Amino acid sequence: MNCDTTALREVIANFPMRVNPYFLNLIQSPGDPIWKQAIPDSAEIHDHVCTDDPLAEDFLSPVPNLVHKYPDRVLLLVTNQCAMYCRFCTRKRKVGTEKMIITDKTLEAGYTYLRQHPAIREVLVSGRTRRKSYF
Ligand code: SF4
Repeated sequence: MNCDTTALREVIANFPMRVNPYFLNLIQSPGDPIWKQAIPDSAEIHDHVCTDDPLAEDFLSPVPNLVHKYPDRVLLLVTNQCAMYCRFCTRKRKVGTEKMIITDKTLEAGYTYLRQHPAIREVLVSGRTRRKSYF
């Protein structure tokens, strides 16, 4: 498969790339739908229409890595690593980068926030972790 490595490097310098073997084997040819999902495109860094934070999650995060968008539901991010970095990711500004730091301290801040807000009935856990439960 051919790829413009110069453009690729330019994008990767801003947004990380990771493609797992399963998805890599699904690619039939450059530009096919799976390619577009997995392989960086220079359009990503020349997009001046969409904002870096299209879901405005940073404004809805009372503590790091927790998004409280609905009164009874939160999103809790427990890792900044994904098996593959999707090119359409709405969190690509920080997933897989040092802008998204997850430590025991940041997780504990999330757990404390949950304990302090009993109206929250649902916690969507994003990512996987081998950490023990603190609940
Ligand atoms: S957070 Fe979800 S959409 Fe974004 S790169 Fe990871 S798996 Fe893909």
